[in-house]
Amino acid sequence: MLCLGIESTAHTFGCAVVDRNGKVLSDARDAYKAPEGKGIHPREASRHHIEVSSQVLRQALEDASATMKDVDIIGYSAGPGLGPCLRVGAVVARTLAGFYKKPLVPVNHALGHIELGAMLTGAHDPLVLLVSGGHTMILAFSHGRWRVFGETLDITIGQLLDQFGRAMGFASPCGGKVEQLAGESQQKNYTQLPYVVKGNDVSFSGLLTAAVRLAQKDKADLSDVCYSLQETSFAMLAEAVERALSFTGKREMMIVGGVSANRRLASMLESACARQDSRFFACPIKFAGDNGAQIAWTALLDYAATKNKVAVKDASVTQSWRLDTVNVAWRN
Ligand code: AMP
Ligand code: MG
Repeated sequence: MLCLGIESTAHTFGCAVVDRNGKVLSDARDAYKAPEGKGIHPREASRHHIEVSSQVLRQALEDASATMKDVDIIGYSAGPGLGPCLRVGAVVARTLAGFYKKPLVPVNHALGHIELGAMLTGAHDPLVLLVSGGHTMILAFSHGRWRVFGETLDITIGQLLDQFGRAMGFASPCGGKVEQLAGESQQKNYTQLPYVVKGNDVSFSGLLTAAVRLAQKDKADLSDVCYSLQETSFAMLAEAVERALSFTGKREMMIVGGVSANRRLASMLESACARQDSRFFACPIKFAGDNGAQIAWTALLDYAATKNKVAVKDASVTQSWRLDTVNVAWRN
């Protein structure tokens, strides 16, 4: 059984073909690049997705040596995400499903990050840290759903790094550049910045303002500021994760989402896992960010377990579709 997955929640338009055993037969993507110093403009990103969609789809089918006739089901990311971007993926999915008469499965994008991560790493029942441009959430599976054990009260960790980087004039996404500069900090000069953990939730907006102010000071060393920014924000996440591990007693911990590419964050989490006697898993970097394979794999799991599908006319998108409202039939 083959599934075509279509991803278009934010900057990336992706199509991938995955089989029932979890083999990723193809993974084609094209990401919208915002001008330097600017964030994603939803209308511009959706225009990008419209322009690249047929080429990305063709590439995904060619790389999988498949045609639309070989595809058994179609999955699309139905939210959460940017409305104009989501709608491009939904239009492509509806058109293909209607024309080729294939079952159409809406997928929650956050669930896609988790299920592909679990399949690729072999984690069975992990505490999950989902850290991306759109999410900062600590989740554990219980009673049929992914339950939230902590989340950001304002901006996400990805937004913190990207907005800080953009204020410095870097091109988005900025997390990689912040990591590189932090690594170049010679003195490892840590300046104290707002560290805000409330209960098991985190807040980054005051940290963002303070870090930008610090960087704009005379004689500020940008690499030291990046170092201080990473140390503060990642320590907040590691504290919340460690408490959630202790509370839930989960023996596994998995990090997914674009920010999981960061080695300093991974090493802090590894230390927390070691203290809590928990195994650490990180989604492979290639699949950490947004991609069609996460949508295809999750659609396959959902369809196999429930035969859930939507009629083409009802295949809508939901910009703020929370993961903890989604029933997950294939886990227990
Ligand atoms: P996603 O929304 O899952 O595609 O993830 C994108 C986010 O990951 C952006 O906010 C990036 O800045 C961030 N990101 C990518 N690479 C890194 C890195 N090495 N360190 C920290 N953040 C990163
Ligand atoms: Mg994402």
